[in-house]
Amino acid sequence: MARKFFVGGNFKMNGTIESIKAIVKNLNEAKLDSNVETVIAPPSLYLLLVRDQLRPEIEVAAQNVYDQPNGAFTGEISVSQLKDSNITWTILGHSERRTILRESDEVVSNKTKYAVDNGVGVIWCCGESLEEREAGKTIDVITNQLAALKAKIGNDWSKIVIAYEPIWAIGTGKVATTEQAQEVHAAIRSWLKTNVNDQTAEATRILYGGSVNEKNCKDLSKQPDIDGFLVGGASLKPAFVDIINCNQ
Ligand code: PGA
Repeated sequence: MARKFFVGGNFKMNGTIESIKAIVKNLNEAKLDSNVETVIAPPSLYLLLVRDQLRPEIEVAAQNVYDQPNGAFTGEISVSQLKDSNITWTILGHSERRTILRESDEVVSNKTKYAVDNGVGVIWCCGESLEEREAGKTIDVITNQLAALKAKIGNDWSKIVIAYEPIWAIGTGKVATTEQAQEVHAAIRSWLKTNVNDQTAEATRILYGGSVNEKNCKDLSKQPDIDGFLVGGASLKPAFVDIINCNQ
């Protein structure tokens, strides 16, 4: 089964009404590869603005969501509020949330389970620090994160897209080499095959994230286990269109 190429744009805590409208206009006017599933994740304050103005074939993601029904959770947004606003995806487990906001594997796994059980797709992020890579622990770190997720969600990974984002490559301009990325992507797929099932290993999109730009995306996209990208800084620029169209 062919995996549809997937490109996510993670705006993080960037943008203004004006700059986000300009990004949306640029995407609305661009000729985009129809074989690519594109999703953008603006800050929550701008989700509705983006959903109202963006061409319908591009999906919209939150950058985070809570794992409880509506109620007394100051500062959070709920899965049902996302669905009410036609927001069909969320990013979860981004390393900035794992480190700065101290979200544990358990917190990330609970949120992921709640989102997928309630019909919202999850771009689930994993990745190692530079220290862990240099200590030769990359695959252990990633497989531990995967195992924590599997312990909560079991064998239904149909609403999950995995983003492998080495922390040392995020926002640093230091992209993983194609070999480094492919090696981890292949290890993730092999883990899925052994620990979930063949069908999940075959069908799950595994994205690379970390300093992806319009220049390095082509070589990365040719790797057999790289099924797309999660793009931070470059998703705020017109060149995001070139990343979406990298297979053309
Ligand atoms: P970057 O961020 O492309 O700016 O490195 C990627 C991400 O954090 O998702």
